[in-house]
Amino acid sequence: MEYAAGDLCPVCESGNLEEKVKDLEFEYNERKSVAKDITCFECPVCGESLTNRKDSRSLEKFLTDERRIADGLLVSDEIKKIREGFNLTQVQFAKALKVGKKNFARYESGQATQGVAMDNLLRVLREYPSAIKLFISKWKNVEEGKVIQIEALYRKKKARKIERKVDYNIRQCSV
Ligand SMILES: [Zn+2]
Repeated sequence: MEYAAGDLCPVCESGNLEEKVKDLEFEYNERKSVAKDITCFECPVCGESLTNRKDSRSLEKFLTDERRIADGLLVSDEIKKIREGFNLTQVQFAKALKVGKKNFARYESGQATQGVAMDNLLRVLREYPSAIKLFISKWKNVEEGKVIQIEALYRKKKARKIERKVDYNIRQCSV
């Protein structure tokens, strides 16, 4: 719903909404937080407080992130950064990780919280990006070029490893 000052209160249908910009305080697991400058529409008759969709969304993201911090989970922007590090879209990344594309989009928008297992997986990928190969190799029917590109990168890395190994063997022999 979109509200404006003066609108009839949809709850009691007798008061007219008043626009107020407020700081809202929250507490979760003993962690206190304040969402600043939230536009609310308050009814002077029944006391109902309403927010517009756009503000509700950003407030939801803020609160999800606050709960994630309290629970030791990655926040929306960290999750987005990990995905972007692989240069994959939400749909591609969700497909690679075998998670619903809508679910993954909700992790980034803060509409849903990832479980601990997903959180761990994302942390592993952040720490060891090459692990994405495990998921990409099983990923079929989209972005053939991307898979080849990523695989080529890994072959190149692997080749460097072999070179180093050879070099090491040669040095070993010359001793
Ligand atoms: Zn009311």
